Amino acid sequence: MTASELVAAVDVGGTRIKAALVDSLGVERVSRTLPTPTGLDRPGVLVDTVASVVDDLVRSTPGTAVQACGVVVPGIVDDVAGVARWSGNLGWRDLPLAGPLAERTGLRVALGHDVRAGLLAEVGFGAARGARNALFVAIGTGIAGALLVDGRVLSGEGYAGELGHVVVEPGGPRCACGGNGCLEVVASAAAIERAYTAARAGSEQLGESVTAEVVARRVAAAEPAAVAVWGRAVEALATAVTAVVTLTGIDLVVLGGGLAESGDLLLGPLAARVAGSLTFQRRPAFVRAALGDRAGCLGAACLARGLA
Ligand SMILES: [Zn+2]
Repeated sequence: MTASELVAAVDVGGTRIKAALVDSLGVERVSRTLPTPTGLDRPGVLVDTVASVVDDLVRSTPGTAVQACGVVVPGIVDDVAGVARWSGNLGWRDLPLAGPLAERTGLRVALGHDVRAGLLAEVGFGAARGARNALFVAIGTGIAGALLVDGRVLSGEGYAGELGHVVVEPGGPRCACGGNGCLEVVASAAAIERAYTAARAGSEQLGESVTAEVVARRVAAAEPAAVAVWGRAVEALATAVTAVVTLTGIDLVVLGGGLAESGDLLLGPLAARVAGSLTFQRRPAFVRAALGDRAGCLGAACLARGLA
């Protein structure tokens, strides 16, 4: 595959599917966005949807050689087998994707995990360019993680990187996974919103529900309830990140997702708290992700190029 050749890239999200033809510099030459259909647990529905949008992209650029396709999905993904093992949000279990998609499109197809692929994209084109050991943390409604160790993204047959379900408060709040005190129920944007709303109950703004973005603004204004909720989330994130640093030797932490929009309000105290709890370990640098919601699609393109 030469540098100018394009690959097809598809990012299947909970609410929308983004597809693009991407060049070797990570530029999307043509793209499509469509709503994620329902009924994805039925065999064939996702294959039909992805094959159709890829066909549409290829037809839209006549004369262009597209040889490979990368597809990324959330949940537990076995990239070696090309099977989407499980997604709580999208409802599938053991959905074979890479093989059927290759048959339908005539392209070589790589299947990957959206967040692990997002890390690949940040390494190739974004905030982790050139990194060999890095942790990518996406903080939004939930918390997802991906690890790059010695230049390789860890998969663990799909089970690696579940940072959101590291227990940070034993016996703490119940998590959707069935556990208690997971990082995700303490430090996700949704958890911050819940905790802050609960802390304000009984005040004059009873019943008010605010976004994590608003909580962040109130932290900046030194409002005590907001500062306390934020501090608890930072503490939990620091506990989890410190464990990862100690276990893997990563020296870069890339923060993405909605909560990372708060910038230094999150990165500053988190970096200080992690640095304060390390002794002999390498101190990681903390940066914000650079690619935003393009990371999944560009990561899928990286996977497709890996087939070349
Ligand atoms: Zn959990």
